[in-house]
Amino acid sequence: MPSSVPSKIRKKIEWFFHRAEGAFLSDAVLAAEGAHLEPKEARARLADSGEHLQAMDLVGRFEQLERALDGDAEKRRAYVGQYGAAGVQCFRAGTETRIYCLAVETFPRHVNNVYVVLEPGSALMLDCGSDLPSSRRDLALGFAVMRDLFREDVRQEALDWCVISHAHYDHFGGSNAVKRETRAHLAVHELDARVLSCFDERLVVVSKDIDVYLRRAGIADDARAVMLGLYTAHKTLFKPVQVDRVLRDGDQIGPGYRVHHVPGHCPGLICLQVHDVLLTSDHVLARITPHQFPQAITPFAGLEHYFHSLAKIRKLEGINYALGGHEEPIWDLRARIDAMANFHRQRLARVLEVCDAPRTVLGVAEALFGHQEGYGFLLAIEEAGAHVEYLHDLGKLRIANLDEVATSRDPVIEYVAR
Ligand SMILES: [Zn+2]
Ligand SMILES: [Zn+2]
Repeated sequence: MPSSVPSKIRKKIEWFFHRAEGAFLSDAVLAAEGAHLEPKEARARLADSGEHLQAMDLVGRFEQLERALDGDAEKRRAYVGQYGAAGVQCFRAGTETRIYCLAVETFPRHVNNVYVVLEPGSALMLDCGSDLPSSRRDLALGFAVMRDLFREDVRQEALDWCVISHAHYDHFGGSNAVKRETRAHLAVHELDARVLSCFDERLVVVSKDIDVYLRRAGIADDARAVMLGLYTAHKTLFKPVQVDRVLRDGDQIGPGYRVHHVPGHCPGLICLQVHDVLLTSDHVLARITPHQFPQAITPFAGLEHYFHSLAKIRKLEGINYALGGHEEPIWDLRARIDAMANFHRQRLARVLEVCDAPRTVLGVAEALFGHQEGYGFLLAIEEAGAHVEYLHDLGKLRIANLDEVATSRDPVIEYVAR
Protein backbone atom coordinates (compact mmCIF):
# COMPACT_ATOMS: atom_id res chain seq x y z
CA MET A 1 0.00 0.00 0.00
CA PRO A 2 1.44 3.40 -0.92
CA SER A 3 2.22 5.24 2.30
CA SER A 4 3.12 8.54 0.62
CA VAL A 5 -0.45 9.88 0.79
CA PRO A 6 -0.81 12.19 3.81
CA SER A 7 -3.24 10.77 6.36
CA LYS A 8 -5.43 13.87 6.11
CA ILE A 9 -6.09 13.21 2.43
CA ARG A 10 -6.44 9.49 2.98
CA LYS A 11 -9.16 10.14 5.57
CA LYS A 12 -10.92 12.60 3.28
CA ILE A 13 -11.04 10.10 0.42
CA GLU A 14 -12.28 7.31 2.73
CA TRP A 15 -14.99 9.66 3.94
CA PHE A 16 -16.09 10.43 0.37
CA PHE A 17 -16.35 6.69 -0.33
CA HIS A 18 -18.47 6.10 2.77
CA ARG A 19 -20.77 8.94 1.82
CA ALA A 20 -21.06 7.99 -1.87
CA GLU A 21 -21.92 4.42 -0.84
CA GLY A 22 -24.91 5.88 0.98
CA ALA A 23 -26.68 5.59 -2.39
CA PHE A 24 -27.04 1.86 -1.69
CA LEU A 25 -29.23 2.55 1.35
CA SER A 26 -33.01 2.61 1.30
CA ASP A 27 -34.71 6.00 1.14
CA ALA A 28 -35.93 5.62 4.71
CA VAL A 29 -32.41 5.14 6.10
CA LEU A 30 -31.00 7.88 3.87
CA ALA A 31 -33.62 10.29 5.17
CA ALA A 32 -33.00 9.40 8.83
CA GLU A 33 -29.65 7.97 10.03
CA GLY A 34 -27.90 8.71 6.71
CA ALA A 35 -29.17 12.26 6.17
CA HIS A 36 -25.63 13.69 6.43
CA LEU A 37 -24.20 11.45 3.70
CA GLU A 38 -25.45 13.33 0.59
CA PRO A 39 -24.14 10.57 -1.68
CA LYS A 40 -24.54 12.43 -4.97
CA GLU A 41 -22.26 15.24 -3.87
CA ALA A 42 -19.71 12.76 -2.47
CA ARG A 43 -19.70 10.83 -5.74
CA ALA A 44 -18.90 14.02 -7.64
CA ARG A 45 -16.08 14.82 -5.20
CA LEU A 46 -14.62 11.35 -5.73
CA ALA A 47 -14.81 11.78 -9.51
CA ASP A 48 -12.73 14.95 -9.09
CA SER A 49 -10.11 13.18 -6.94
CA GLY A 50 -8.43 11.13 -9.67
CA GLU A 51 -4.90 11.97 -8.59
CA HIS A 52 -5.49 10.91 -4.98
CA LEU A 53 -7.38 7.78 -6.00
CA GLN A 54 -4.41 6.80 -8.09
CA ALA A 55 -1.91 7.52 -5.32
CA MET A 56 -4.00 5.46 -2.88
CA ASP A 57 -4.48 2.62 -5.37
CA LEU A 58 -8.24 3.15 -5.28
CA VAL A 59 -9.04 3.70 -8.95
CA GLY A 60 -10.33 0.12 -9.30
CA ARG A 61 -12.59 0.50 -6.31
CA PHE A 62 -13.97 3.77 -7.62
CA GLU A 63 -14.69 2.25 -11.04
CA GLN A 64 -16.42 -0.68 -9.38
CA LEU A 65 -18.44 1.77 -7.28
CA GLU A 66 -19.50 3.68 -10.38
CA ARG A 67 -20.62 0.46 -12.08
CA ALA A 68 -22.50 -0.63 -8.95
CA LEU A 69 -24.23 2.71 -8.53
CA ASP A 70 -25.41 2.67 -12.14
CA GLY A 71 -25.90 -1.10 -12.31
CA ASP A 72 -28.22 -3.84 -11.12
CA ALA A 73 -28.74 -5.42 -7.71
CA GLU A 74 -26.10 -8.04 -8.33
CA LYS A 75 -23.38 -5.46 -9.02
CA ARG A 76 -24.36 -3.62 -5.86
CA ARG A 77 -24.26 -6.80 -3.79
CA ALA A 78 -20.82 -7.65 -5.14
CA TYR A 79 -19.49 -4.18 -4.28
CA VAL A 80 -20.97 -4.18 -0.78
CA GLY A 81 -19.67 -7.71 -0.17
CA GLN A 82 -16.15 -6.63 -1.06
CA TYR A 83 -15.93 -3.11 0.36
CA GLY A 84 -18.95 -2.67 2.59
CA ALA A 85 -21.01 0.49 2.44
CA ALA A 86 -21.36 3.77 4.28
CA GLY A 87 -18.60 2.86 6.72
CA VAL A 88 -19.83 -0.68 7.51
CA GLN A 89 -17.98 -3.77 6.37
CA CYS A 90 -18.81 -7.41 7.09
CA PHE A 91 -16.15 -10.02 7.91
CA ARG A 92 -16.58 -13.70 8.66
CA ALA A 93 -15.21 -15.76 11.53
CA GLY A 94 -15.58 -19.50 12.10
CA THR A 95 -18.56 -20.97 10.28
CA GLU A 96 -21.47 -18.69 11.12
CA THR A 97 -20.14 -15.61 12.89
CA ARG A 98 -20.35 -12.19 11.26
CA ILE A 99 -18.07 -9.41 12.46
CA TYR A 100 -19.25 -5.97 11.38
CA CYS A 101 -16.72 -3.16 11.38
CA LEU A 102 -18.37 0.23 11.93
CA ALA A 103 -16.27 3.31 11.08
CA VAL A 104 -17.07 5.85 13.79
CA GLU A 105 -15.71 9.41 13.89
CA THR A 106 -14.85 9.73 17.58
CA PHE A 107 -13.01 13.06 17.34
CA PRO A 108 -12.86 15.39 14.35
CA ARG A 109 -11.11 13.40 11.58
CA HIS A 110 -10.25 10.58 14.01
CA VAL A 111 -11.99 7.33 13.08
CA ASN A 112 -12.37 4.27 15.31
CA ASN A 113 -13.48 0.81 14.30
CA VAL A 114 -16.33 -0.40 16.50
CA TYR A 115 -17.03 -4.12 16.01
CA VAL A 116 -20.41 -5.80 16.30
CA VAL A 117 -20.05 -9.57 16.50
CA LEU A 118 -23.17 -11.58 15.69
CA GLU A 119 -23.94 -15.27 15.82
CA PRO A 120 -27.09 -17.17 16.68
CA GLY A 121 -28.22 -16.14 20.17
CA SER A 122 -25.41 -13.59 20.69
CA ALA A 123 -24.78 -9.93 19.91
CA LEU A 124 -21.58 -8.39 21.29
CA MET A 125 -20.06 -4.98 20.59
CA LEU A 126 -16.35 -4.26 21.04
CA ASP A 127 -15.85 -0.60 22.03
CA CYS A 128 -18.48 2.10 21.76
CA GLY A 129 -16.79 5.23 20.40
CA SER A 130 -16.69 8.56 22.20
CA ASP A 131 -19.63 10.64 23.37
CA LEU A 132 -19.28 13.25 20.61
CA PRO A 133 -22.33 13.77 18.34
CA SER A 134 -20.40 12.46 15.29
CA SER A 135 -19.67 9.24 17.17
CA ARG A 136 -23.29 8.67 18.18
CA ARG A 137 -24.40 9.55 14.64
CA ASP A 138 -22.05 7.01 13.04
CA LEU A 139 -23.00 4.26 15.51
CA ALA A 140 -26.71 4.78 14.79
CA LEU A 141 -25.98 4.76 11.05
CA GLY A 142 -23.89 1.57 11.42
CA PHE A 143 -26.75 -0.32 13.05
CA ALA A 144 -29.20 0.99 10.42
CA VAL A 145 -26.86 -0.18 7.62
CA MET A 146 -26.52 -3.65 9.18
CA ARG A 147 -30.31 -3.96 9.17
CA ASP A 148 -30.94 -2.31 5.81
CA LEU A 149 -28.17 -3.66 3.59
CA PHE A 150 -26.97 -6.77 5.41
CA ARG A 151 -30.44 -7.88 6.57
CA GLU A 152 -29.33 -8.40 10.16
CA ASP A 153 -31.95 -8.40 12.88
CA VAL A 154 -29.82 -6.30 15.24
CA ARG A 155 -30.54 -3.28 17.39
CA GLN A 156 -28.17 -1.35 19.60
CA GLU A 157 -30.70 -1.51 22.47
CA ALA A 158 -30.72 -5.32 22.35
CA LEU A 159 -26.97 -6.03 22.57
CA ASP A 160 -25.89 -8.61 25.16
CA TRP A 161 -22.41 -7.26 25.81
CA CYS A 162 -20.40 -4.13 25.25
CA VAL A 163 -16.74 -5.05 25.79
CA ILE A 164 -14.31 -2.15 26.13
CA SER A 165 -10.92 -3.01 24.62
CA HIS A 166 -9.09 -0.42 26.74
CA ALA A 167 -9.66 2.78 28.67
CA HIS A 168 -8.81 5.33 26.00
CA TYR A 169 -11.50 7.86 25.45
CA ASP A 170 -12.13 7.17 21.76
CA HIS A 171 -12.87 3.54 22.69
CA PHE A 172 -14.98 3.88 25.86
CA GLY A 173 -16.31 7.47 25.91
CA GLY A 174 -19.75 6.33 24.74
CA SER A 175 -20.18 3.83 27.57
CA ASN A 176 -22.57 6.05 29.56
CA ALA A 177 -24.92 6.07 26.57
CA VAL A 178 -24.56 2.29 26.25
CA LYS A 179 -25.61 1.83 29.88
CA ARG A 180 -28.42 4.35 29.60
CA GLU A 181 -29.90 3.33 26.28
CA THR A 182 -29.22 -0.38 25.83
CA ARG A 183 -29.53 -3.57 27.83
CA ALA A 184 -25.88 -4.45 27.18
CA HIS A 185 -23.67 -5.44 30.10
CA LEU A 186 -20.41 -3.53 30.21
CA ALA A 187 -17.12 -5.46 30.48
CA VAL A 188 -13.51 -4.24 30.65
CA HIS A 189 -10.17 -5.61 31.83
CA GLU A 190 -9.61 -5.30 35.56
CA LEU A 191 -6.65 -2.92 35.14
CA ASP A 192 -8.81 -0.44 33.20
CA ALA A 193 -12.06 -0.87 35.13
CA ARG A 194 -11.14 1.84 37.61
CA VAL A 195 -10.73 4.41 34.85
CA LEU A 196 -14.36 3.90 33.86
CA SER A 197 -15.85 3.54 37.32
CA CYS A 198 -13.78 6.30 39.01
CA PHE A 199 -13.12 8.54 36.04
CA ASP A 200 -13.11 11.77 38.06
CA GLU A 201 -10.40 10.40 40.37
CA ARG A 202 -8.40 9.13 37.42
CA LEU A 203 -8.45 12.50 35.68
CA VAL A 204 -7.12 14.31 38.75
CA VAL A 205 -4.38 11.78 39.56
CA VAL A 206 -3.10 11.39 36.00
CA SER A 207 -3.06 15.15 35.47
CA LYS A 208 -0.74 15.43 38.50
CA ASP A 209 1.46 12.56 37.33
CA ILE A 210 1.73 14.01 33.83
CA ASP A 211 2.61 17.40 35.26
CA VAL A 212 5.51 15.93 37.27
CA TYR A 213 6.63 13.92 34.27
CA LEU A 214 6.57 16.89 31.91
CA ARG A 215 8.52 19.03 34.37
CA ARG A 216 11.26 16.39 34.60
CA ALA A 217 11.17 16.08 30.81
CA GLY A 218 12.19 19.74 30.54
CA ILE A 219 8.91 21.42 29.56
CA ALA A 220 8.47 25.02 30.70
CA ASP A 221 5.57 26.06 32.97
CA ASP A 222 3.37 27.77 30.36
CA ALA A 223 3.75 24.97 27.80
CA ARG A 224 2.91 22.43 30.55
CA ALA A 225 -0.31 24.21 31.41
CA VAL A 226 -1.36 24.14 27.74
CA MET A 227 -0.59 20.43 27.46
CA LEU A 228 -2.55 19.55 30.59
CA GLY A 229 -5.50 21.49 29.22
CA LEU A 230 -5.31 19.43 26.02
CA TYR A 231 -5.09 16.21 27.98
CA THR A 232 -8.28 16.91 29.91
CA ALA A 233 -10.19 18.46 26.96
CA HIS A 234 -13.30 16.42 26.03
CA LYS A 235 -12.86 14.33 29.15
CA THR A 236 -14.42 16.50 31.83
CA LEU A 237 -17.96 15.72 30.66
CA PHE A 238 -17.65 11.97 31.17
CA LYS A 239 -19.43 10.64 34.25
CA PRO A 240 -18.15 7.51 36.01
CA VAL A 241 -19.96 4.41 34.78
CA GLN A 242 -20.67 1.10 36.50
CA VAL A 243 -18.76 -1.86 35.07
CA ASP A 244 -20.74 -5.14 35.12
CA ARG A 245 -17.87 -7.55 34.61
CA VAL A 246 -14.10 -7.25 34.93
CA LEU A 247 -12.06 -9.37 32.55
CA ARG A 248 -8.78 -11.18 33.08
CA ASP A 249 -6.36 -12.84 30.72
CA GLY A 250 -7.75 -16.16 29.45
CA ASP A 251 -11.39 -15.38 30.31
CA GLN A 252 -14.14 -16.16 27.87
CA ILE A 253 -17.06 -13.87 27.10
CA GLY A 254 -20.17 -14.22 24.94
CA PRO A 255 -20.31 -17.58 23.18
CA GLY A 256 -16.68 -18.39 24.04
CA TYR A 257 -14.64 -15.44 22.73
CA ARG A 258 -11.24 -15.44 24.43
CA VAL A 259 -9.66 -12.49 26.20
CA HIS A 260 -5.91 -11.93 25.72
CA HIS A 261 -4.43 -9.29 28.01
CA VAL A 262 -1.82 -7.23 26.15
CA PRO A 263 -0.58 -4.39 28.37
CA GLY A 264 1.71 -1.76 26.81
CA HIS A 265 -0.27 0.80 24.82
CA CYS A 266 -2.68 0.83 27.78
CA PRO A 267 -2.61 -1.11 31.10
CA GLY A 268 -5.84 -3.04 30.57
CA LEU A 269 -5.69 -3.42 26.79
CA ILE A 270 -7.17 -6.68 25.52
CA CYS A 271 -7.33 -8.48 22.20
CA LEU A 272 -10.54 -10.44 21.73
CA GLN A 273 -10.31 -13.72 19.86
CA VAL A 274 -13.48 -14.49 17.91
CA HIS A 275 -12.91 -18.04 16.65
CA ASP A 276 -10.19 -17.65 13.98
CA VAL A 277 -10.17 -13.84 13.93
CA LEU A 278 -8.33 -11.63 16.40
CA LEU A 279 -9.72 -8.20 17.24
CA THR A 280 -6.49 -6.43 18.15
CA SER A 281 -7.80 -2.96 19.09
CA ASP A 282 -4.79 -0.62 19.54
CA HIS A 283 -2.29 -3.41 20.20
CA VAL A 284 -1.62 -4.07 16.50
CA LEU A 285 -2.68 -1.68 13.73
CA ALA A 286 -2.29 -2.08 9.97
CA ARG A 287 -0.40 1.14 9.22
CA ILE A 288 0.71 3.17 12.22
CA THR A 289 2.45 1.89 15.33
CA PRO A 290 0.26 2.43 18.40
CA HIS A 291 1.28 5.27 20.67
CA GLN A 292 3.53 4.40 23.62
CA PHE A 293 3.46 5.92 27.11
CA PRO A 294 6.13 5.76 29.78
CA GLN A 295 5.36 3.58 32.80
CA ALA A 296 6.30 6.58 34.89
CA ILE A 297 2.94 8.08 33.93
CA THR A 298 0.89 4.88 33.65
CA PRO A 299 1.89 1.62 35.34
CA PHE A 300 1.66 -1.45 33.02
CA ALA A 301 2.33 0.81 30.03
CA GLY A 302 5.81 1.15 28.56
CA LEU A 303 7.87 -0.65 25.95
CA GLU A 304 8.87 -3.63 28.12
CA HIS A 305 5.21 -4.59 28.46
CA TYR A 306 4.52 -3.77 24.83
CA PHE A 307 7.29 -6.00 23.43
CA HIS A 308 6.20 -8.80 25.74
CA SER A 309 2.57 -8.45 24.59
CA LEU A 310 3.59 -8.46 20.92
CA ALA A 311 5.52 -11.71 21.45
CA LYS A 312 2.53 -13.19 23.28
CA ILE A 313 0.12 -12.50 20.40
CA ARG A 314 2.67 -13.64 17.83
CA LYS A 315 2.59 -17.12 19.43
CA LEU A 316 -1.19 -17.55 19.10
CA GLU A 317 -2.16 -20.43 16.84
CA GLY A 318 -5.17 -20.60 14.56
CA ILE A 319 -5.57 -16.90 13.77
CA ASN A 320 -6.50 -16.27 10.14
CA TYR A 321 -6.41 -12.50 10.17
CA ALA A 322 -6.80 -9.57 12.55
CA LEU A 323 -8.96 -6.47 12.76
CA GLY A 324 -7.60 -3.39 14.55
CA GLY A 325 -9.26 -0.58 16.47
CA HIS A 326 -8.41 1.80 13.61
CA GLU A 327 -7.44 1.44 9.95
CA GLU A 328 -7.71 -1.60 7.65
CA PRO A 329 -7.65 -5.35 8.36
CA ILE A 330 -4.30 -6.99 9.09
CA TRP A 331 -4.10 -10.01 6.79
CA ASP A 332 -0.69 -11.21 8.00
CA LEU A 333 -0.61 -10.62 11.75
CA ARG A 334 2.83 -12.09 12.43
CA ALA A 335 4.49 -10.10 9.66
CA ARG A 336 2.87 -6.93 10.98
CA ILE A 337 4.02 -7.69 14.55
CA ASP A 338 7.59 -8.24 13.34
CA ALA A 339 7.50 -4.95 11.43
CA MET A 340 6.23 -3.07 14.47
CA ALA A 341 8.78 -4.59 16.86
CA ASN A 342 11.49 -3.75 14.34
CA PHE A 343 10.25 -0.18 14.06
CA HIS A 344 10.61 0.31 17.83
CA ARG A 345 14.07 -1.30 17.88
CA GLN A 346 15.19 1.17 15.23
CA ARG A 347 13.68 4.04 17.18
CA LEU A 348 15.52 2.84 20.31
CA ALA A 349 18.79 2.80 18.36
CA ARG A 350 18.06 6.34 17.15
CA VAL A 351 17.44 7.53 20.72
CA LEU A 352 20.80 6.09 21.81
CA GLU A 353 22.46 7.98 18.94
CA VAL A 354 20.72 11.20 19.89
CA CYS A 355 21.87 10.77 23.50
CA ASP A 356 25.58 10.72 22.69
CA ALA A 357 25.42 14.12 24.39
CA PRO A 358 23.14 14.75 27.42
CA ARG A 359 19.49 15.26 26.43
CA THR A 360 16.23 15.82 28.21
CA VAL A 361 13.15 13.88 27.07
CA LEU A 362 12.09 17.13 25.39
CA GLY A 363 15.42 17.20 23.53
CA VAL A 364 14.96 13.60 22.41
CA ALA A 365 11.39 14.33 21.26
CA GLU A 366 12.60 17.30 19.21
CA ALA A 367 15.38 15.23 17.66
CA LEU A 368 12.90 12.46 16.73
CA PHE A 369 9.85 14.44 15.68
CA GLY A 370 11.02 18.02 15.07
CA HIS A 371 8.92 20.93 16.24
CA GLN A 372 5.43 19.87 17.36
CA GLU A 373 2.47 21.81 18.62
CA GLY A 374 -0.77 21.13 20.46
CA TYR A 375 -1.74 17.53 21.07
CA GLY A 376 1.04 16.37 18.75
CA PHE A 377 3.56 17.86 21.21
CA LEU A 378 2.13 15.83 24.11
CA LEU A 379 2.18 12.65 21.99
CA ALA A 380 5.79 13.31 20.92
CA ILE A 381 6.91 13.72 24.55
CA GLU A 382 5.13 10.53 25.65
CA GLU A 383 6.46 8.49 22.73
CA ALA A 384 10.05 9.73 23.23
CA GLY A 385 9.64 9.27 26.99
CA ALA A 386 8.63 5.61 26.60
CA HIS A 387 11.79 4.91 24.58
CA VAL A 388 14.09 6.83 26.94
CA GLU A 389 12.57 5.06 29.95
CA TYR A 390 13.06 1.62 28.40
CA LEU A 391 16.73 2.32 27.58
CA HIS A 392 17.27 3.71 31.08
CA ASP A 393 15.63 0.64 32.65
CA LEU A 394 18.00 -1.56 30.61
CA GLY A 395 21.02 0.45 31.75
CA LYS A 396 21.80 1.74 28.27
CA LEU A 397 21.16 5.34 29.26
CA ARG A 398 22.28 6.96 32.51
CA ILE A 399 21.38 10.22 34.18
CA ALA A 400 23.95 12.84 33.14
CA ASN A 401 23.17 15.47 35.78
CA LEU A 402 22.77 13.27 38.86
CA ASP A 403 24.17 15.85 41.33
CA GLU A 404 21.64 18.41 40.19
CA VAL A 405 18.81 15.85 40.33
CA ALA A 406 19.89 14.91 43.87
CA THR A 407 19.82 18.46 45.21
CA SER A 408 17.03 20.18 43.24
CA ARG A 409 13.38 20.03 44.32
CA ASP A 410 12.13 20.15 40.71
CA PRO A 411 14.92 18.65 38.64
CA VAL A 412 14.95 18.42 34.86
CA ILE A 413 16.60 15.09 34.05
CA GLU A 414 19.21 14.72 31.32
CA TYR A 415 20.10 11.32 29.88
CA VAL A 416 23.28 10.22 28.15
CA ALA A 417 24.31 6.94 26.50
CA ARG A 418 26.64 4.88 28.68
ZN1 LIG B 1 -5.65 3.54 22.53
ZN1 LIG C 1 -7.42 4.01 19.57
